[in-house]
Parts: sequence; C-alpha cells; structure tokens
Amino acid sequence: MPELPEVETVCIALSKVVISSRVKNIKVLRKNLRWNIRENIQTNLEQDILKKPYRRGKYILIPTYKGNILLLHLGMSGQIKIKSNNNNTLKHDHFIMVIETKKNKDYSIIYNDPRRFGYIDFFNIKDIENHFLLQKLGVEPLSNDFTTDYLQKNINKRSKCIKNFLMDQSIIAGIGNIYASEILYRAKVHPLKSVDSLNKENLKNIIDSTKYILRKSINVGGTSIKNHLQPDGKLGYFVQELQVYGKQKLKCNKCNDLIKKIITNNRATYFCNTCQK
Ligand SMILES: [Zn+2]
Repeated sequence: MPELPEVETVCIALSKVVISSRVKNIKVLRKNLRWNIRENIQTNLEQDILKKPYRRGKYILIPTYKGNILLLHLGMSGQIKIKSNNNNTLKHDHFIMVIETKKNKDYSIIYNDPRRFGYIDFFNIKDIENHFLLQKLGVEPLSNDFTTDYLQKNINKRSKCIKNFLMDQSIIAGIGNIYASEILYRAKVHPLKSVDSLNKENLKNIIDSTKYILRKSINVGGTSIKNHLQPDGKLGYFVQELQVYGKQKLKCNKCNDLIKKIITNNRATYFCNTCQK
C-alpha cells in the first residue's frame, strides 16, 4: 500500500510531464472507485493547463490555471502510469487523461487500480480546506510544524498505543503500516507503548526517525525513477530498505535477537523486543 514516500515519488514523476501541459481529453472507463468519480470531470478539466503537482498526506494534488485541483488517491493498490502512447487499455485501467506538453508531445496519465479503494476527484481551489478527504488531515511529518509540542498537544486528547497514534491521519498525514514499524524501530520505542507514557526524549526520537525514514525512502523512490515513463506500471512502488517490516523471525541488525510480529488493530506490527522499550 502506497504511503507518503511512494506518493511523493509519483508526484516527482508526474512533475516531469504535467507542468504547463494541456488536458486534451479525459476518459473514465469505470467511475465506481471508492466513491464515484463525478460526472462533469471532463467539462471542468479538459483544455485546462496543469501546474506543478504536490502531495498532501497520501493525496496527489494537481492544480490548474483555471483554479481547479485534480485529486488522485492510490488507495490500497492504485498505480499511476505515464505512457507516451497508449495503444492498449489494460484490465483495471479506470481513468485515462491525455495531456499535451508545451513541446506538443502527448502523454497518457493512466490510473489503474485492481481493488478500487482509490479515488479521483476535482474541486475548486477555494474549497481545498473543506474537501472531505483533506479537511481532517493532520500535520505534514516533513514540515516544521511536526514538533514535540504538536505531539504533546495531541497526546493530551487521546490515550492509545504509539503505533496507532502514528498512523492516525488526523494527527500525522501520510504514515501507514510499513513506515510506522520502521520509525518506531529506529526511535527504539515499543509499538504498544501508550502515548501518554512517552517522555520528551522519546517524542524527539520519534520525530527525528520519522523525518529520517521518510526522506530516505523518498530518495530511494526518486532514484527508482530512471525516467518518468514506467512501462511496467510500477510507478510509486519501489523496494524500500526495511529493517523490521516483514522480517519476523529474522535477526535484528542491532542486537541479533529475532524480530517479532504481532497484530494490533488488525494490522501486522514488527519490532525488536530487546531494542524497543
Ligand atoms: Zn534488536
């Protein structure tokens, strides 16, 4: 499932073709994604010029010159493909946007999603704060607003384990199951530890680890884009350098004890019982 670094990687790849490109046409092959794609997406976006894409949490946002924003969400299994010619539509291709660059070159931006938990939407930029998917998003973990004070303020409202807290999108936007385990391993904090028992040093370690792990993964993703055209459709999916996720019964790289796997909140959680307190 794509998390913040994968979505950022897709944004970087899209930036290489969409900036200043004109939307030639949009085809909706299947509108019932997690929610239905709105009917008038073509009339609102066709002929408009796209600006630089950016990311908010796990959402890709592409602003346009006429003041709209195209929102793409990859859900559990969504992929964005960029093709210079799209002769054959594949199974699970649900949305195709053909764009023309300033140099008169056409590209197809294709949204493919077997499980259809993703979503595509558009809205006027003035409604961005009220969009139902964006309005409750918490702090961007790579921003300067992600501080120990911010965490402490949010901890006071709730009492739960740190792993679920990290994955709560209304507190921190963009962290999912894979990176939550990796962050806590690096911060040496046990995933089941209650947030109200964390001291300031723990919180500082969690913040530092979050920024380190996410930035490192974005770099790996960036280098995985050899060019922006990914004929295998693997854009946004790359081999992360993981320390604990999926490594149960393998040796911890720091202490040689075996990595443990438990289920919390119906999600697999990986940690080292010796290194993480
Ligand atoms: Zn260990």
